[in-house]
Amino acid sequence: MSSKLLEDAHFALKRAAELVKINADTEEKLKRPELSVKFSVPVRMDDGQLRTFGGYRVRYDTTLGPGKGGIRYHPKVDVDHLQTLAFWMTFKCALLNLPYGGAKGGVQVNPKELSRMELERLSRSYVNQVADFIGPDLDVPAPDMYTNELIMGWMANQYSLISREHRPAVITGKPLALGGSALRERATATGAFFVIDEMLKGRDRRPEDTTVAVQGFGNAGAEVATQLMEAGFRVVAVSDSQGALYSETGLNVKKLRQFKEQNGGTSVYHAAQVADCETVKGAQISNAELLTLDVDLLVPAALENQITEENAEDVRADVIFEVANGPVTSAAQELLVERDVEVVPGILVNAGGVTVSYFEWIQNRRGERWREEKVRDRLEERMRGATEEVRATADEHQVDLTTAAYVVALARIDEAIEAQGTREYYQG
Ligand code: NAD
Repeated sequence: MSSKLLEDAHFALKRAAELVKINADTEEKLKRPELSVKFSVPVRMDDGQLRTFGGYRVRYDTTLGPGKGGIRYHPKVDVDHLQTLAFWMTFKCALLNLPYGGAKGGVQVNPKELSRMELERLSRSYVNQVADFIGPDLDVPAPDMYTNELIMGWMANQYSLISREHRPAVITGKPLALGGSALRERATATGAFFVIDEMLKGRDRRPEDTTVAVQGFGNAGAEVATQLMEAGFRVVAVSDSQGALYSETGLNVKKLRQFKEQNGGTSVYHAAQVADCETVKGAQISNAELLTLDVDLLVPAALENQITEENAEDVRADVIFEVANGPVTSAAQELLVERDVEVVPGILVNAGGVTVSYFEWIQNRRGERWREEKVRDRLEERMRGATEEVRATADEHQVDLTTAAYVVALARIDEAIEAQGTREYYQG
């Protein structure tokens, strides 16, 4: 295994494998990704020059179905990184009992430096290069960091142009008008809200007495913060890549969102930073300070590796809800568990996105359009059901919630691998 991040991700798997008796074949199969492709993404820039960017797609495991996982545009994207993200997708889909394996892709680029036309050319060029490795029954991409429904629409269209067929089910997270699903934009946050609500049930914790800090103010973070505020929680801090805003009495999250949306500049990305918003009163603090605030709930919704051995001892929240993928490292997790800080794992908390992606895929294949209430009801049922399953497994084995989530997912993958025949079967 080449990457430290992937090694760290495998830690949860090892712990789960100590609790469920799995086949040797399963252990062997999950050691490394099934496929990792690396290619060049050529783009004609507005000034006429040709530039090439690094493009990637990884399929980690497809035992349970076609690959499923987002496409990330970020300067730090590399193959090791994406292998880890694809590994998490494998377990997330299994945990939610979706008929998918795990995948992930990306382009090594700072998309904020591109014009809209360059961004479109980059997105179409990515599909040209990856077209042989994706498909409705092969591997189904979706949005991730710094990609959105506009980009998914271009990509779906490019795939249809290449295959000379209308095939919207190749990609999810599309605009509604192009076969997207109701609720998809808010799916990750809505799913996270159901998990938070379910986890807090039966505890003596009224929303208005519960303080929350949210790191990351994008698709997932800003919407989670909004839904928590609407439910009466006191959202005391939020942040984006440039810094954070803090107010002991609570921030007006809706106003902050408006500020970001109305000051977007010419890029499709918001140029404005939450810390610059003058109409919402609050103190400017750093992202590092946000993570160690004395709050009840901490919601990391930006990047991986945010809570590590270095700052885990300083975290003062009671519960961490991982909306981002992998924001708490395994070493930090151990330190937090020792101090009774609960970590609710990303493969559960942020699974609303892929779940509604699954609903979008079904709708595309059946030529249907579901009402928002139907999507929401089905999402709620799955998210609350999975939360209950993880909690019951944690109680049964007396383990933390992350290990429990991996136990549930691993048992499902193992059962499918066993059904194809293992060493015991072939040895007669
Ligand atoms: P996004 O691009 O919409 O937003 C990312 C946010 O993080 C932005 O506000 C950005 O300013 C902020 N950010 C970037 N670097 C930061 C840093 N160093 N410190 C603090 N903030 C920083 O991305 P998103 O779709 O909201 O994804 C956020 C996380 O949630 C990622 O880990 C992603 O994998 C995970 N996730 C997203 C979805 C989804 O459907 N959007 C689904 C599952 C998981």
